[in-house]
Amino acid sequence: MPIATVNPATGETVRTFEPLGADGIEERVARADRTFRSYRATDFASRAALLASTADLLDKEREDIARTMTLEMGKTLASARAEAAKCAKAMRWYAANGERLLADEHPADADVQDSGAHRALVRYRPLGVVLAVMPWNFPLWQVVRFAAPALMAGNTGLLKHASNVPQTALYLGGLFHRAGFPEGCFQTLLIGSGAVESVLRDPRVAAATLTGSEGAGRSIASVAGDEIKPTVLELGGSDPFVVMPSAAGELDHAVATAVTARVQNNGQSCIAAKRFIVHEDVYDAFTQRFARAMEALVVGDPMEESTDVGPLSTEQGRADLEELVDDALARGAQALCGARRPEGRTAGWFYTPTVLAGVTPEMRIHREEAFGPVATVYRVRDLDAAVEVANDSPFGLSSNVWTRDEDEQRRFAADLAAGGVYFNGMTASHPAFPFGGVKRSGYGRELSGHGIRAFCNVTTLWYG
Ligand code: NDP
Repeated sequence: MPIATVNPATGETVRTFEPLGADGIEERVARADRTFRSYRATDFASRAALLASTADLLDKEREDIARTMTLEMGKTLASARAEAAKCAKAMRWYAANGERLLADEHPADADVQDSGAHRALVRYRPLGVVLAVMPWNFPLWQVVRFAAPALMAGNTGLLKHASNVPQTALYLGGLFHRAGFPEGCFQTLLIGSGAVESVLRDPRVAAATLTGSEGAGRSIASVAGDEIKPTVLELGGSDPFVVMPSAAGELDHAVATAVTARVQNNGQSCIAAKRFIVHEDVYDAFTQRFARAMEALVVGDPMEESTDVGPLSTEQGRADLEELVDDALARGAQALCGARRPEGRTAGWFYTPTVLAGVTPEMRIHREEAFGPVATVYRVRDLDAAVEVANDSPFGLSSNVWTRDEDEQRRFAADLAAGGVYFNGMTASHPAFPFGGVKRSGYGRELSGHGIRAFCNVTTLWYG
């Protein structure tokens, strides 16, 4: 894949970039390693001040970087601005909470004595240089939710960003240094995916984190496994959105949330709700309103404030989505709306919001991730059936359930195989809550205390 900015709303190649050669990579890896040796000794207060300055700088530059993101990957300008603001918030959250989250732990006195020590404690020390391989869908947020905790913990970072967001990648490569971090703390490597393996095998690189597809996850995990290096993987998702009869009184709210949960980021979010599993008592009412609301969305130029849904980020992404829809229709699914490109748009990679009913397990979309504005709806007869359909997926990232019945909430909280269960709302990441999944959605957690400790050397200090 060439490293280039290609406007998804027009298909026009705006700018191409030369990948970094071996010397450029070596220079940056060496700098990251060198910087780690001094940066690791800095105290939390100075790291927090640097992160807070980075947040201030990002806030000042929000409009420009939002436009760059929209140009490169097609998210609506409003959502790009919100993404930049969310990044600044996460930086401030880690600046305020990092020291507390990494405070020394003190085992019980009786256990310390039992071990033969007069003193013992657990300290979170940084691991070293961490390689982040990141996707284009939230080109700022995916990176910052790794970088903010990693830098707060005293690590240094190398970013290999997706090849279709090079200008956002270069912006991030400069942002932290311009805000005051030492130059080698956070750097961008403008490289293709073929160059990742040698960087990951470099002995100066301690660990890796990847957000992206299963294929990329498998590749990073196997190289890292071979090198015995820790990884965090945040892969795809096909999150369920269950609607039970006790939500009948707030169906309009549930429908509006379902639409947002499905089409946020033009439908290209790992935690987007993708499979709508609706109890038969409310199925007709929910599904009709949902299809009408999806149909009413404005598809168009993502730079226009009135646009709800912009283009898919790449031509291949739209082709993959069309294949999934066509396969379902050929096997008997019914399109309640959409299932086509918008009329009158010849350029750009647009696709109309789509709702498919009558989906069965032999259809690819039942098991694969639909990375675009395409929803599937399932009719179920009771709670057990809802749980069964929800868990019948290779993925287990997050989940959403609409029910006001506390017994039902207890059942879903216990039985849904996912890294999150969100009741009467939709999944959204927040710096204070762990983020990640089970099954093929990956392993490890980002954000919260779990995310900052992921790239720490949990060290026992024992004094005899
Ligand atoms: P990829 O997984 O290919 O891309 C994500 C990142 O991984 C990019 O930086 C990419 O680099 C890199 N990469 C890809 N293959 C390798 C590899 N073998 N070794 C090392 N790095 C690699 O995602 P796509 O953009 O191709 O999207 C395909 C599908 O993945 C989507 O349809 C969706 O299902 C899923 N996806 C999920 C995301 C999520 O948020 N969980 C985000 C993006 C995609 P390069 O761009 O240079 O190829």
